[in-house]
Amino acid sequence: MNRVTKRTWIMGLFLLVLLGGMVFFLWEYVTQAGDWVVFSGSPHVYNNANIGCGTITDRSGEVLLDITDQRTYSSDAATRKSTLHWLGDRKGFISAGAVSHYAGKMAGFDLVSGIYSSSGEGGQMTLTLSARVQNAALEAMAGRKGTVAVYNYKTGEILCAVTTPTYDPDNAPDIASDTTGQYEGVYLNRFLQSTYPPGSIFKVVTTAAALDCVPGILDKTFTCTGTYAYGTESVTCEKAHGMLTLETALSHSCNCAFAQIAELVGKKNMVKYVEQFGVTDSLSFDGVTTAEGNYDISNTAPVSFAWSCIGQHTDLINPARYMTFMGAIAGGGVGAEPHLVARVSAGEEVTYEADTVKTDRIMSKEVAGQVRQFMRNNVRTIYGDGNFLGLNVCAKSGTSQLGGGQTSNAMFAGFVEDEAYPLAFMVVVENGGYGSATCVPVISKVLSVCKAVLDGQ
Ligand SMILES: [Zn+2]
Repeated sequence: MNRVTKRTWIMGLFLLVLLGGMVFFLWEYVTQAGDWVVFSGSPHVYNNANIGCGTITDRSGEVLLDITDQRTYSSDAATRKSTLHWLGDRKGFISAGAVSHYAGKMAGFDLVSGIYSSSGEGGQMTLTLSARVQNAALEAMAGRKGTVAVYNYKTGEILCAVTTPTYDPDNAPDIASDTTGQYEGVYLNRFLQSTYPPGSIFKVVTTAAALDCVPGILDKTFTCTGTYAYGTESVTCEKAHGMLTLETALSHSCNCAFAQIAELVGKKNMVKYVEQFGVTDSLSFDGVTTAEGNYDISNTAPVSFAWSCIGQHTDLINPARYMTFMGAIAGGGVGAEPHLVARVSAGEEVTYEADTVKTDRIMSKEVAGQVRQFMRNNVRTIYGDGNFLGLNVCAKSGTSQLGGGQTSNAMFAGFVEDEAYPLAFMVVVENGGYGSATCVPVISKVLSVCKAVLDGQ
C-alpha cells in the first residue's frame, strides 16, 4: 500500500468517526433536548434550583404555585400544606417529580429553533388534584402520619393524594432541630415512596385468588375456634367466629378461615396471583415511579404462608399501587393508569394533555364482580352505609401489626360503585390502631367532598 492510499484510508476513517459523532449528537439532541434545557443549571427555567416559568393550578383553576419569578405558593395555608409534596419546597428537599417532568413543555421549548415560547406569558400546568379535597384529607388526618388518596378509576385522574406529616412552606418549621418526632419522614411522599405491611386489606388478594382457582369455593365453609394450629404455632383471631363462608370470612376478617383458604389456594398459586394482580409492582406515571412492594414466601413454614395470605409475614404494599388495584376490581378487572398532570400549556399553545390509559386485564370480569359484591357486603354489614351517605362504597379494612410494641397501622382500601363517582381510594394512618374505626371517618369526609367537587358544588 503506497503512502497516498494509506492517507486516504486514514482520512476516510476520520470522516467516519466524525459522521458517527454527528449522528449520535443529532439523535441525543432530538431525544434529550427537552431534558437538557430544564437541567438544574439552566438559568432559563430555574430560580434557586426551582423551575421558574409559569403557574400550577388545581383541577378547578385555583393557583397552587406561581413560579414566574420566585416560588409563590397558594395564599391559603392549608392548601400550601396539603399540596407541598407535589409542588416541592424552596430548598429542594422535596422533589416534585411529576411537575418537573413537564417543565420543558411548560417552558415551551422548541426543538427546531432551540428557544423558549416567545409569547412571554409563561406556562400553565393544571393538576388533576382538587385543593378542596386535599385540604379535607389533611384536616381528617388530624396531625397523624400517613396518606389519603382517591382517584377516578375510569379516567385515571388523581383527585387527592395527601401525605403527612407536611408543613407550610411559607412558615417552615425548624425541622432539623425538632425533637418531638412530629416531622419524622416529612420530606417523604408516602403515597409514592412508602411501603407498608398491608394487614387484612390483603385478604382481598387472597379472596380473588381463591375465587379464580379453588373449584366450588362459594359452597365451602370454614370453622373458626379463635385459633388455627400449625404444630406449636398458630394463626389466631381476637374471638371465635364460628362457621363462615368466603364472603363472611372476608367481612369478619377471620384469620383462621383465611389460613384454611390459603391452604386451598396453595403457595404456587398465591405467587402467581400476586404477580398477575401486580400488587407489589412499582407504578410509573408523569415521570415518577412508586416504591415496589414485597411478597416473599420462599422457604416459609405453613404458618408463615398463612400469615402471608392475611397480609402479615413480610408482605409490603405501596399505597399508590394498592389504590390502582382497587380501581381495577371496580372496573371489572381493568383499571386506568393514574395521573396527576391534566394539561400543560406554554403561552397559547397546549403542549401536553393527559389521556386515559387503560391497564391490562388483571382478573376476569366474573372474579372482579364477585370480589366487588363481597366488598360491598363488608360496608353494608360491618362498616355501615350510614358513614357514606349517598355513595355505594365497597371496601376492606386492615389493622396491620408492626411488632416492637408499636400501635398497629390502620388501613382502609376500596372504591365507590357508581357511574357518576367512579372513585377508588386508599387510606393509611400510621400507628392509627383499628383499620375501620380510624379510617372510616377519614375517608367518609374525603369522599363526601369528592362527591361535591364532581357534582360541581
Ligand atoms: Zn376467626
